[in-house]
Amino acid sequence: MEAKRKHSLYYLMAETVIGSANVAQHESLSSWHSRLDNVGEKGINELAKQGVIKIDAYDGLKKCEPCILGKAKKLPFTSGKHTSTTPFAYAHSDLWGPSQVESMSGGKYFISIIDDYSRKVWVYILKDKSQAFGKF
Ligand SMILES: [Zn+2]
Repeated sequence: MEAKRKHSLYYLMAETVIGSANVAQHESLSSWHSRLDNVGEKGINELAKQGVIKIDAYDGLKKCEPCILGKAKKLPFTSGKHTSTTPFAYAHSDLWGPSQVESMSGGKYFISIIDDYSRKVWVYILKDKSQAFGKF
């Protein structure tokens, strides 16, 4: 197959094949749901209506574990309640990385440290995660 570049797009130099695929099979609703990467019941019924697939049994989709997990929501974090009365009594920290692109100094990780009392923020670029403890 060949492609020609025109401006910033590549155009494939190929013929378009027009035809139809005979993929109709008899399966249950839940097996089509699994086979079609968890497509909803409405989408499966539409494919059946168009004659692309045939559904033998409407066994329901209520107990599909991947769908249940996909729709699950995380519980919100509870708001932290701590009152710092002196600097460095309590600190918040986050270690992020590895970055796909290194910094100019070769760093791939960032660590942020926030003093709860003063709200002063320090951000350090690290070449390796093992440097994190030393920044405290
Ligand atoms: Zn599912």
